[in-house]
Amino acid sequence: MRSQDGTVPQMRRTWLALVCLAAGAALLPCGATAKATGACTAGTTLRLSTLEASQGSLLLAEVRSAEPLAEVSGEWGGRIIPLWQEAGKESVRKGLVGVDLELAPGAYEFKVIGQAASGEKTSCRVMVAVKKGRFAREKLQVGKQFVEPSPEQIKRAGEERQKLRELFDRVTPERLWDGKFRIPLDGVTTGSNFGKRRILNGNPGSPHGGVDLPGTTGTPVHAAQRGRVVLAEELFFSGNTVVEDHGLGIYTFYGHLSEIEVKVGDALEAGAVLGKVGATGRVTGPHLHWGLTVERARVNPLLIVKLLGNSSEEAVRKESSKP
Ligand SMILES: [Zn+2]
Repeated sequence: MRSQDGTVPQMRRTWLALVCLAAGAALLPCGATAKATGACTAGTTLRLSTLEASQGSLLLAEVRSAEPLAEVSGEWGGRIIPLWQEAGKESVRKGLVGVDLELAPGAYEFKVIGQAASGEKTSCRVMVAVKKGRFAREKLQVGKQFVEPSPEQIKRAGEERQKLRELFDRVTPERLWDGKFRIPLDGVTTGSNFGKRRILNGNPGSPHGGVDLPGTTGTPVHAAQRGRVVLAEELFFSGNTVVEDHGLGIYTFYGHLSEIEVKVGDALEAGAVLGKVGATGRVTGPHLHWGLTVERARVNPLLIVKLLGNSSEEAVRKESSKP
């Protein structure tokens, strides 16, 4: 893999210059760019949770307007980013911007385009600096039979990868959830291995696209939020797998389950049990592989819990108070 290290300082300079330009457009002194705000047309403000992102990170965008916006959406890396309206807050729109795990470091623009009920158009733009993620690397020398899957296995894995890609490409226009997300295992507060790359006999594999959560076989796996099951089957790499669609291009992925307890089409409440922890697929021991895809970008799922809040305690309370 080509090293990006030598090019990062250059990109950083470019980004600073662009931010100064953006600040200039909003008539702010260049020194006042610490706040993660964008340059907007009058009456609208754009705020991002950060302007210094890294590969695999997730950003929260907030657009506030003097007049409620009838139509508004964001744009990032050629993809439309849906912006939702919080209940009772007509003038506030929010959206999640995913920075893919393998997005090349550099400066990227996030744009918002909207229109008020009166027909007046509004727009915002801001530059986001994406730096290289700090991911672990593991070098392994193993027997050939562990590195080279059979032609049938390669074919199967390729078809499944394509199926997942097509699935994550679909955007359900409604937001199926409301409120906070949770880590799918009770009592687990963090996960590991996000972005980790294994180098088997000198050949780098694809980076680990989710986090591994510790758990023993049979531990209940809870839906991170409300949504609809769009995949519930056994896959070559991730074993028994469930994918949940939360709407607006946001999907959570649950792998290596010992048992799947839902089927495609099921509507899941936040915190509903969708299966049990296991060691199915290409793994060495039981754990939950938990992934998050936002507009096709593979991001660290722990960040959605951090950005929107952790609902696990509330979910447990809601479940237990049901008649
Ligand atoms: Zn994993």
